Amino acid sequence: MNAKKKLTVKVSSFTPAEERAARSERIEVNEAEPYGWMARSESGAEQDYHLYCEPRTRRLACTCADFVFRGNAEPGYECKHVSAVLKYLGRRYLAEDYDPQHQHPHAA
Ligand SMILES: [Zn+2]
Repeated sequence: MNAKKKLTVKVSSFTPAEERAARSERIEVNEAEPYGWMARSESGAEQDYHLYCEPRTRRLACTCADFVFRGNAEPGYECKHVSAVLKYLGRRYLAEDYDPQHQHPHAA
């Protein structure tokens, strides 16, 4: 159990309306050639971003400005495109690769 207390400081510079817009925005994910994934917002307001798995850290990296700038300051930062790709991968894994026979129970 993680009982570590964290002091939360609001550092967001977005207005509440901008935050709502970002949350409600749907992002479409597709496989990219030759590797990685493409993320595009359904509103079409933004360009497509290319995401890939960083071989060293095995984490997703995104080409958007949000990720590039904030990711440098906060290791492990996930932009909305990273979140969208993680959800996409999770759904695909459950639909195609998940095998209950090989799932190790946490509590034996
Ligand atoms: Zn991004």
